[in-house]
Amino acid sequence: MRKKIVAGNWKMNKTLDEAVALVSEVVNMIKDEVTGDVQVVLCTPSIYLTTLKPYLEGQTRVALGAQNCHEKASGAYTGEISAPMLKSIGINYVILGHSERRQYFGETNAQLAEKVNSALANGLTPIFCCGESLEQRQSGVHFDFVRTQLTESLFHLTPEQFASVVIAYEPIWAIGTGLTASSEQAQEMHAALREHLAGKYGQEVANDTSILYGGSANEKNAAELFAQPDVDGGLIGGASLKSREFTIVVKS
Ligand code: 13P
Repeated sequence: MRKKIVAGNWKMNKTLDEAVALVSEVVNMIKDEVTGDVQVVLCTPSIYLTTLKPYLEGQTRVALGAQNCHEKASGAYTGEISAPMLKSIGINYVILGHSERRQYFGETNAQLAEKVNSALANGLTPIFCCGESLEQRQSGVHFDFVRTQLTESLFHLTPEQFASVVIAYEPIWAIGTGLTASSEQAQEMHAALREHLAGKYGQEVANDTSILYGGSANEKNAAELFAQPDVDGGLIGGASLKSREFTIVVKS
């Protein structure tokens, strides 16, 4: 079901004490200040998820998520974390295919298709990331490139499976650079992706899909980005590491 979602991607940041403090602050600010219908997902480092869970008790607006999972359920994959493991500690969301995972850990569209399968098979909602590089945008292949990311990692899903997927468009050139996509650029790509989904799954499924924007989204530009008709919220990096900034984004 299409809903407003603001997810924080903490990446590899915060010690345990800092993580507890930030989650407590965010939960309290959101409880006190946010009235609208928005789902907040805090994708913290996985090592803290179990400790952080109790800080979310008694409210439904804020959930925890992981930033990655392995495609296999278990086995000899040293250092990895699987979807059943995340599920077993009460986690319902996982970011998959972030551009940093693709760039530094060599994740491919085919491998991400398997990760998506494992997440869905274990009842996790994948927040599936896509997005082009600056060179791709400048050479005009960005629409095709991002459409192919969706096709190769998601289009094997049945409509019923696909209904659980959240998409995050994150142009690589906007991540951590302070260079946000303009609201027109974001809307244009989100509309193109929704049309691509409609071509595969039909207009109703496409209309029901939440498509988030990520890439230097912050307390100053979120309202304009989120006001675009095909932008259903955000995946927030740097601005999710400060409670006040992140709460302002959520309220946008
Ligand atoms: P920034 O908001 O820091 O640009 O990061 C975006 C991002 O990668 C979220 O997943």
